[in-house]
Amino acid sequence: MLTLHRLSASYGRIQAVRDASLRVDQGELIALIGPNGAGKSTLLNTLSGLLRPADGEVRFGDRDITGWSAAKVARAGLLQVPEGRQVLGPLSVEDNLLLGRQALAGRISTHGLDEVYALFPILRERRRQKAGTLSGGQQQMLAIGRALMGGPRLLVLDEPSLGLAPIVVDQVFAVLQTLRRSGLTILLVEQNASLALAASDRAYVMEHGRIVLDGPSAELRHDPRIVEHYLPSAEGLAPAAAAL
Ligand code: ATP
Repeated sequence: MLTLHRLSASYGRIQAVRDASLRVDQGELIALIGPNGAGKSTLLNTLSGLLRPADGEVRFGDRDITGWSAAKVARAGLLQVPEGRQVLGPLSVEDNLLLGRQALAGRISTHGLDEVYALFPILRERRRQKAGTLSGGQQQMLAIGRALMGGPRLLVLDEPSLGLAPIVVDQVFAVLQTLRRSGLTILLVEQNASLALAASDRAYVMEHGRIVLDGPSAELRHDPRIVEHYLPSAEGLAPAAAAL
């Protein structure tokens, strides 16, 4: 569904992504993990059209979308939930969700308001409330719900657990599993490696702008290079990861 071939991206003279190749197949949940500053967000922003690549190719389905604008990429069904949620604070929860429909551009979404409210009942309760008054976790749910309203063929999430209480992280990841079981294809950037590897089918590890390792998540969880650098001791495993 998505193929990145030798993608590079820079901010002026800082090369943030170097020669990164990655593949997401239909129905997979793929995780991209790595330390702060490794280039994960830059990679996502480049494939979703927020940044122009310096080099390389992005293919989505059978189309070469390299260099497309973010709006055009979204209309093609590649929808990103950005880091930090970015909901429209002065608008109601429901109006934020309805704005997600703009990405549809004639396509059909399996998720309308009823389906999003079924996934996140708290959003139904708060539907007339201004989005800016929601908690961080509720804003994350809203941002995911808004993307679903746009009928994603590929849902891309940047650090959905960032800054959330463990119980809320559990809720958000339970919904991601529900979406994956329903057949949605998902690409997830996540700093919490134990959680990401527990939730995903395959994973890529990024360091210093390069993809340095990839494989089935079940194998990477036991790979000494991952265990040593990315996984806390067993007692320290995030509760959400231990439950998956
Ligand atoms: P984090 O988990 O902290 O978001 P990341 O893996 O997503 O990390 P990026 O945010 O993609 O990493 O950053 C990759 C590199 O690019 C870092 O060195 C960062 O300082 C730099 N960088 C990111 N955004 C910009 C920007 N707007 N201008 C200049 N440099 C940037």
